Amino acid sequence: MEKIIRYPHPNGEITVIWKPALCTHAGVCVRALPQVYRPNQRPWCKPEYALSKELIEQIEGCPSGALTYELKT
Ligand code: SF4
Repeated sequence: MEKIIRYPHPNGEITVIWKPALCTHAGVCVRALPQVYRPNQRPWCKPEYALSKELIEQIEGCPSGALTYELKT
């Protein structure tokens, strides 16, 4: 089964979703939001360091589709 890891933002608005099998580790996310994506730490994704709109903009730039997001309505 495909592995899916969820990183909920404490603001309750957005959850970052990462599918490691799709990630090409090109580091586009790390360059865009280094305060959020910290490959040397666990968890490596810390959505609390960005606004929801900043995360959305960056996630839409993930070249592999490994990063997606879910909004609370
Ligand atoms: S931008 Fe997407 S494909 Fe590239 S390292 Fe980040 S999650 Fe992986």
